Amino acid sequence: MSFVIEGVLIRDDPSSYRLPVVYDSPHSGVQYPREFRFNCPLSLLRQAEDAYVDEMFAAAPDHGATLLAALFPRSFIDANRAEDDLDLEMIEGLWREPVRPTDKSALGLGLLRRLCRPGVPIYDGRLPTAEVAERIDRYYRPYHFQLQAILDSLFAQFGVVWHIDCHSMPSMGCSLPGCESSARPDFVLGDRDGTTCEAEFVSYVAHTLKTLGYRVAVNNPYKGVELVRRYADPTQGRHSLQLEINRRLYMNEETLEKHSGFEPLRDAMTHLIRRIADYASDHITARAAE
Ligand SMILES: [Zn+2]
Repeated sequence: MSFVIEGVLIRDDPSSYRLPVVYDSPHSGVQYPREFRFNCPLSLLRQAEDAYVDEMFAAAPDHGATLLAALFPRSFIDANRAEDDLDLEMIEGLWREPVRPTDKSALGLGLLRRLCRPGVPIYDGRLPTAEVAERIDRYYRPYHFQLQAILDSLFAQFGVVWHIDCHSMPSMGCSLPGCESSARPDFVLGDRDGTTCEAEFVSYVAHTLKTLGYRVAVNNPYKGVELVRRYADPTQGRHSLQLEINRRLYMNEETLEKHSGFEPLRDAMTHLIRRIADYASDHITARAAE
């Protein structure tokens, strides 16, 4: 069963039984809104997409989990940034809300992206305040509202919830200032240095991926950002883990065309989804028996 907010998000609920497991894909959206007046080539802008990540986790609802995916592109507004991680240099007029730009904004990768690649700005001028406010109200907030609602309802029912925030990463370190350039492993798990997820679940996911033959790193070079930070409270049973998949495994990173690795990778992700369902079932059974 799907719930859709046109151009904003799609939520797929479990088909039969329900487990406290949620996958979210904030960066796989490809519906470029009409009001997104970018001034750089679309092919460059599209490099920011975590292309097909939503498809890779499409089996989640068959295994008791809920899948939430953004339909808008992350270059339009980034759901994995704090709402106040804004670069005021990009905005025309007086912005009345408080801002707290982080190093992401300094790199041009805040809530609103400044560059589509080094030296190539996305816009040819500043963005009017009303336009920025509209992106937050119509796209960013509904995505967060939906994710929060799913997590809260599962937590209320089960007393525990596991949230896997799904992404894909370039195979080489990015060429933006501040990034090191080096080959990436197949997967990077991020729990913000042990603060967003129980260690047992992180090891379980890492082990499952290693058993499938993949190279897995934890918190290096990606620790996880806003989506795992905002909803996690592992001491209370709210666990959030960021998962980054190496794009080299499934597509041509320049053209975004899937290659022959896509199907096997999707099968591997379906296997991971099944194993995570086993983990959640075992843990809720154990809790019920306490
Ligand atoms: Zn991403």
